[in-house]
Amino acid sequence: MKSMTPVFPARWWAPQGDGRIVCRLCPRECQLREGQRGFCFVRRNTGGALDLTTYGRSSGFCVDPIEKKPLNHFLPGSRVLSFGTAGCNLGCRFCQNWDISKARDFDRLADAATPEQIAAAAQRHGCRSVAFTYNDPVVFAEYAIDVAQACRAVGVRTVAVTAGYMSAEPRAEFYAHMDAANVDLKGFTEEFYRRQCSGSLAPVLETLVYLKRETAVWFEVTTLLIPGENDSDAELERASDWFAAHLGPDVPWHFTAFHPDYKLLDRPPTPPATLQRARTIAWAKGIHYVYTGNVHDRTGGSTWCPQCGGCLIERDWFEIGRWRLRDGVCAACGFPVAGVFAGEPERGGAGRVLVRLAGDA
Ligand code: SF4
Repeated sequence: MKSMTPVFPARWWAPQGDGRIVCRLCPRECQLREGQRGFCFVRRNTGGALDLTTYGRSSGFCVDPIEKKPLNHFLPGSRVLSFGTAGCNLGCRFCQNWDISKARDFDRLADAATPEQIAAAAQRHGCRSVAFTYNDPVVFAEYAIDVAQACRAVGVRTVAVTAGYMSAEPRAEFYAHMDAANVDLKGFTEEFYRRQCSGSLAPVLETLVYLKRETAVWFEVTTLLIPGENDSDAELERASDWFAAHLGPDVPWHFTAFHPDYKLLDRPPTPPATLQRARTIAWAKGIHYVYTGNVHDRTGGSTWCPQCGGCLIERDWFEIGRWRLRDGVCAACGFPVAGVFAGEPERGGAGRVLVRLAGDA
């Protein structure tokens, strides 16, 4: 596709009365003069109205195992059609997808697709769901909502992989269309969010509480542990106390391994022992489903029965092994396991398959 910035009318903005407009999609509330783009780079003041420059354009489509999002309690073993666009409303110095999230060259957006084409492609490739991932769907919320509506019309579910940095009004509308989410909780201090992400912790906690109290969206939480930054016992204890008190025991929590990337190159990769320590701390607070990720760890990757201690779903990275769930309950003791389960796992395989949509009917 040739370089271009198509105009799609964006939502959640208001005129300021001084020639500027304010975008109210996320807590940044960017105030934009004519021609100016927001922090996320993909929303722009064009002629006194906000437009979204990435509607209908993707950085590419892949079929992934749902465990890769990561979601361990949402249709385990199923395949998910995954895509992203460009841009992000946070500025994480450790971004593990920075070539997409910080893209300024829209030639990267090679695959164009309508919402209906994406829903049809998911069906054609045997995917139970479509994931908005690789970059944060907050910045392409209008497109994500349209895709979610097209998917629901044909019985395909949708998954948002997000940092949860979104304002209240668009958040309610966005999640009314989503079936599942994985929300990053990147650290547990305002100082970490400000220094490492150019953002703020409080709106993320609001999104998590909103999802728990106000919606039926199935969601799991991911924390990337960075040595020396957000992995102290004290921070993990405080985060676990908050998690248990506000989200309860049944929301799964994934502790994943960092590798040096983007602007944070002076930290070592996360040792597996750090992930296991975090898992132990969270578990001791009564959180039932705590996982390690981005490492080979059968114990930390598997789902264990909170009542009898048996292994319910065995995993090695994204590969599913033994399965001891029957209709969502432990086959040994009958404990009901939180999540969205539909019979036996599909065992769609742990690999990733690239998919081209451009030109599809
Ligand atoms: S979505 Fe983009 S333009 Fe809107 S407030 Fe957030 S960073 Fe600014």
